[in-house]
Amino acid sequence: MATFRDVVGQDQIKSHLKTAIKMKKVSHAYIISGERASGKEFISGIFAQTLQCEKGGEEPCGECHSCKQAMTKSHPDIKFITHEKPASIGVDDIREQISEDVAIKPYSGPYKIYIVSEAEKMTVQAQNAILKTLEEPPAYVVIMLLTTNSGSFLQTIRSRCVELTMKPVSAKMLKEYLMEELQIPDYKADVCVAFAQGNVGKAREMAMSDDFTAVQNATLNLVKSVRDMDLSEAVAGIKAMAEYKVDPSDYLDIISIWYRDVLLFKATGETDQLIFREELSTIRRVAQRSSYEGIEEVLEALKKARLRLSSNVNFDLTMELLLLTIQEKG
Ligand SMILES: [Zn+2]
Repeated sequence: MATFRDVVGQDQIKSHLKTAIKMKKVSHAYIISGERASGKEFISGIFAQTLQCEKGGEEPCGECHSCKQAMTKSHPDIKFITHEKPASIGVDDIREQISEDVAIKPYSGPYKIYIVSEAEKMTVQAQNAILKTLEEPPAYVVIMLLTTNSGSFLQTIRSRCVELTMKPVSAKMLKEYLMEELQIPDYKADVCVAFAQGNVGKAREMAMSDDFTAVQNATLNLVKSVRDMDLSEAVAGIKAMAEYKVDPSDYLDIISIWYRDVLLFKATGETDQLIFREELSTIRRVAQRSSYEGIEEVLEALKKARLRLSSNVNFDLTMELLLLTIQEKG
């Protein structure tokens, strides 16, 4: 069972929430903003469980009836808002699950908690429906809006919420977590940490995924051998990569880490700080053959590729353009 102690990093949010519980000054509404997989659901779940725990401490006891219900996501007074359409949370979703529900007193716990994941998907009408509740909330109501983008909320919503922001976790803490809690070996932990950029969920996903090593190897192989390939071979390589179920920008992250290693090695000759240090012989070879300008151009091309993906340019085309630059300059 999880407690606040199990949240890696996020000291500020943890201390805010624990103090609120201790001082009995729990707000009616919170916005928790942070990247996908940064742990918003995890920390909100622990907060909700603690609020409902029969022992009434600053951490959930994990043993009372309420905690057991919370842990199996079957607590009648902790509600996770669902939505009909995948792309948006509509006014009907909010009306049925929050507006028309808040007047009913909690079934067993002291609070009635509504957790809205991906709250940036709320339409303006849905936000206005929530706003009505926030204007005169019953004493027992706590609404938690979890979002990747709090800027998408109406100002009137934001002004009624306590806003907490997930912070990137330090590399040291993230590595400790992977090695100690998940028993990930040193080298792999370093790669995951570099890749995750302070995002715990992303680091864990990578570390636990069977596909991870395969994706990493496929990407690196393509980058390493693209100079000796013609375009049709490179395209076949891209198609093969697209079969893994990972976020397309993950490939760009792996290539970025690779070229940062090449640049670091070229500039300093040091090997201790390299992420892909198990690939040292290839890093050395690439560092020798590539100029600083060439590496800079590849890093620029990676930035462009990110922009293209985020503006929905097709994955194959984006990767082809990137690999052409790598072929020429990398
Ligand atoms: Zn409990």
